[in-house]
Amino acid sequence: MLDKVLIANRGEIALRILRACKELGIKTVAVHSTADKNLKHVLLADESICIGKPSAQESYLNIPRLIAAAEVTNSVAIHPGYGFLAESADFAEAVERSGFVFIGPKADTINMMGDKVAAINAMKAAGVPCVPGSDGPLTDDNERNKAIAKRIGYPMIVKAAGGGGGRGMRVVRSEDELVSSIATTKAEAKAAFNNDVVYMEKYLENPRHVEIQVLADGQGNAIHLGERDCSMQRRHQKVVEEAPAPGISEQMREKIGDRCRKACIEIGYRGAGTFEFLYENGEFYFIEMNTRIQVEHPVSEMITGVDLIKEQLRVAAGQPLSIDQSQIKIKGHAIECRINAEDPKTFLPSPGKIDMFHAPGGLGVRWDSHIYSGYSVPPFYDSMIGKLITYGESRDEAINKMRHALEELVVDGIKTNVDLQKMIMADENFFAGGTNIHYLEKKLGLQ
Ligand code: ADP
Repeated sequence: MLDKVLIANRGEIALRILRACKELGIKTVAVHSTADKNLKHVLLADESICIGKPSAQESYLNIPRLIAAAEVTNSVAIHPGYGFLAESADFAEAVERSGFVFIGPKADTINMMGDKVAAINAMKAAGVPCVPGSDGPLTDDNERNKAIAKRIGYPMIVKAAGGGGGRGMRVVRSEDELVSSIATTKAEAKAAFNNDVVYMEKYLENPRHVEIQVLADGQGNAIHLGERDCSMQRRHQKVVEEAPAPGISEQMREKIGDRCRKACIEIGYRGAGTFEFLYENGEFYFIEMNTRIQVEHPVSEMITGVDLIKEQLRVAAGQPLSIDQSQIKIKGHAIECRINAEDPKTFLPSPGKIDMFHAPGGLGVRWDSHIYSGYSVPPFYDSMIGKLITYGESRDEAINKMRHALEELVVDGIKTNVDLQKMIMADENFFAGGTNIHYLEKKLGLQ
């Protein structure tokens, strides 16, 4: 096993990684900015080290400081968590070049998946269904672009190959808008991602977001752990996630899961990963692969009993996966509500001191969070302060448990989205299952 792991992250995911390390007998190093010295995992880690000022650029995004922290603490591996540098091929490469194990895929894989055109091509070659599109970058040839758009059919969407975080895309509904839309998206992509390559895809009007969790050891073994539905979104940010996805039959799961599993083997994938799909009219369309652990990983853990972070650590230590596909049995239903420190009306982050905190509990209730009474949520980072996860034999039971767990949760002193989550859990269409990615914004009157 790995001797000592440096956790290059903060908040709930840093605590989650710390817990998995402890269970496996791995020593832990917490790194933190000056704003984060009182983070729960910093207080619990074997060692902790301050890496800089509050701004992420000077701390959690600062590659030389993270590498130096690993050096002075004699760490052997670095876990990037999610966000920050988790999908930076430069970071993965710097980590490995400095003689540490990067807990994630190879830098080349991260690079390929960070370029959406390359990712789509690789997935197509591996037999993963993709959205009908331009099959490569658009050129400056307007007539060629018009012909491609005609073949795909309107509406379609122009997307930046280097895009991320829901930015760098534009829906085009008719040929009149085509040339100017391509030019604008290119200019925006150049400014935001320093890469003006754009491509085209059919625009799906009312899809759901359904994703497949995979694990691979880079030694020829890969498994899938079923799907998650993350359609409850606001501004492309997931708000509620669940597993399995309502209405997906075992047969469909096996078919799409097997494709993803085989694609992992084909590209030599290593670690945990997620294939994101849009799902419409019974069909899956690949949009991108996330080469890291995701926020919503607990719902897959709950229905499979597999600890995804422990598997990441085992694979990073050079061990093969501890389970094979035949051992993955999906049982029951899990729901996750993201709890954010945010204003319920404006959705703006609402940092500040938590005067009183009380966690919900009971059978099938999981609370993944770093907050405690007296903790101050700093204004410098993401506003998510915890994840409430419930598990039930059935979806109805999981929702019912979530309603009661949300009632029990007390976070006093700051504004949160708990009331929004209560509203979603009381919504009859959510209860029926299968709402699409526009549902929440429409309900909130934002669309
Ligand atoms: P990012 O990397 O920025 O998250 P994605 O490619 O994952 O970009 O797309 C983000 C979101 O944009 C999707 O979840 C979906 O809501 C919307 N989207 C992307 N491609 C399409 C498409 N072809 N049709 C409809 N919506 C799309």
